[in-house]
Amino acid sequence: MRPINYECPACGAINSVTCIGAVAAQTYGPPEQCYPAEDAEIDPGACFNCNHEFDIDKVFDELPKPEDFDRDDRDDADEDGKNWSAD
Ligand SMILES: [Zn+2]
Repeated sequence: MRPINYECPACGAINSVTCIGAVAAQTYGPPEQCYPAEDAEIDPGACFNCNHEFDIDKVFDELPKPEDFDRDDRDDADEDGKNWSAD
């Protein structure tokens, strides 16, 4: 979930729009680790300033590409679990 800044096309005010999800499909590797792509869910709402209702398709144009959501930031820290003998 990340907020994006979306400029109101009507008045130019910067609105914060919350974006949920958006993952690229995982189609290789073990079956239990595969999943289909998920589109981002956003609730564009309306401008806080002028109450202009946002067009969801236009807001989507402002979103980062799904690949940007799919960075593998996981650290495999198993190696750190080893106990080092300090004799
Ligand atoms: Zn506005």
